[in-house]
Amino acid sequence: MSELVMDSAFFGHVLQDMGALIEKERDYLTGLDSDIGDGDHGINLSIGFREVNKQLDELLAVSPDIATLLKKSGMILLGKVGGASGPLYGSFFMKCGADVPGKTEVNFDELCGMIINGAAAVQHRGKAELGDKTMMDAFLPGVEVLQNRDANADPIETFSAFVDAMHAGAQSTIPLIAKKGRALRLGERAIGHLDPGSESSWMLMNVILENLKKAV
Ligand code: ADP
Ligand code: MG
Repeated sequence: MSELVMDSAFFGHVLQDMGALIEKERDYLTGLDSDIGDGDHGINLSIGFREVNKQLDELLAVSPDIATLLKKSGMILLGKVGGASGPLYGSFFMKCGADVPGKTEVNFDELCGMIINGAAAVQHRGKAELGDKTMMDAFLPGVEVLQNRDANADPIETFSAFVDAMHAGAQSTIPLIAKKGRALRLGERAIGHLDPGSESSWMLMNVILENLKKAV
């Protein structure tokens, strides 16, 4: 078993790096959303993560544990971000600490459980299934990797396989017709376009991978 331990400061760095990623990819994500949505996905996420990062020092200071830190961050995303992605990513962060209440450190197994819970909250909120051309097309294959993980495997390898499965899941949205979200209205015209939320979701999870690599 791995001795990898993630504390509140780890999750603070993750939130900071997620904010930096969204700034870097803002125009790219917005461009994807211009193709099959209303052209605001990168802008929406940027508004939300900027606010989280503006409040991050205070959030870290007043949050006694990881679950509270992430819950409060999720509430900011939910409150600040217009559009579908605010409530969906808000739900992810609000629910991912449900099984680790009060903890100021989590191990790799607990981290995997947190992501599985967060993804389940997104699905509960959005009611999207595999193949609906949404961020669930990235999350669901990733969750399957985490659920079937080998307890003796190297955590970085496991988490890389999780991110790879999410990335492949995002790519799998290209030939699809949307069954949820704004792209639904496009019908067959959505074919050939990558779903913006599936792209942002694997990229955000990749930020956790990059921080895990720094932690080992
Ligand atoms: P909006 O569509 O309201 O403008 P965004 O552009 O920020 O919001 O986010 C769009 C993304 O949200 C889509 O690319 C898709 O991945 C995701 N999405 C939309 N509806 C759902 C849903 N019901 N379940 C899961 N994800 C969804
Ligand atoms: Mg949009």
